[in-house]
Amino acid sequence: MALIQENLERIRRKIKAAAERAGRDPEQVRLVAVCKRMPLERIEEAVAAGQTLFGESFVLEAREKILELGSKLTFHFIGHLQSNKAKVAADIFSVIETIDRLKLAKALDQHLAGQQRTLAGLLQVNIGREPQKSGVMPEDVVSVLAAIKAECPRLEMQGLMAIPPYQEDPEAVRPFFAEMRRLAEDCAAKGLIGADNRFELSMGMSHDFEVAIEEGATLVRVGTAIFGSRV
Ligand SMILES: *Cc1c(COP(=O)(O)O)cnc(C)c1O
Repeated sequence: MALIQENLERIRRKIKAAAERAGRDPEQVRLVAVCKRMPLERIEEAVAAGQTLFGESFVLEAREKILELGSKLTFHFIGHLQSNKAKVAADIFSVIETIDRLKLAKALDQHLAGQQRTLAGLLQVNIGREPQKSGVMPEDVVSVLAAIKAECPRLEMQGLMAIPPYQEDPEAVRPFFAEMRRLAEDCAAKGLIGADNRFELSMGMSHDFEVAIEEGATLVRVGTAIFGSRV
């Protein structure tokens, strides 16, 4: 039982230290506990240790977990979202972090219009230009966000999200995180994300979240460092 609690406490300490090293307010960094393919008992341990924000990559798996765990928790969607699952995703997640094409944004917006409500989203950027990964190419970010703003009034685009190329040495990922921050600042200055020059930047996973925080992450998505290896 104690293990997940200890992991969470260690990660929260590291988050605080990384933010302070960068002269940032630690309160500006939120920990998304990624519980994809984790058994319910482990998630319950994290809840018992005070974690309320979770990330899931699979819509139907998340729906089952949310039914079991109750609605006091907050879930972000962080996987690849097919347009035909957009409705379910819009109903159960509080943020869709992986909006990666206008077509998906439109599917979400259309569903939201029917319910007369809004939903928060992040634009996923393929910052490493990897063919196997989803996300908008960096040079297309401004135009895609402008199209979403014009055509999807019920999507509140709060910021950007990325999964940079995996590198053994987290320092090697730093330039990608820094480029993400520059992109986000540019989009915020153009009024395309966030409000009042404040925006979300979701980047950093188990092995590189500290570097991501030093470069400006406001959401870090940590799975195995909290829960252990996935089943
Ligand atoms: C699985 C996943 C994570 C968490 O990865 P860990 O290495 O287990 O911390 C973060 N972000 C995304 C998009 C993921 O799919």
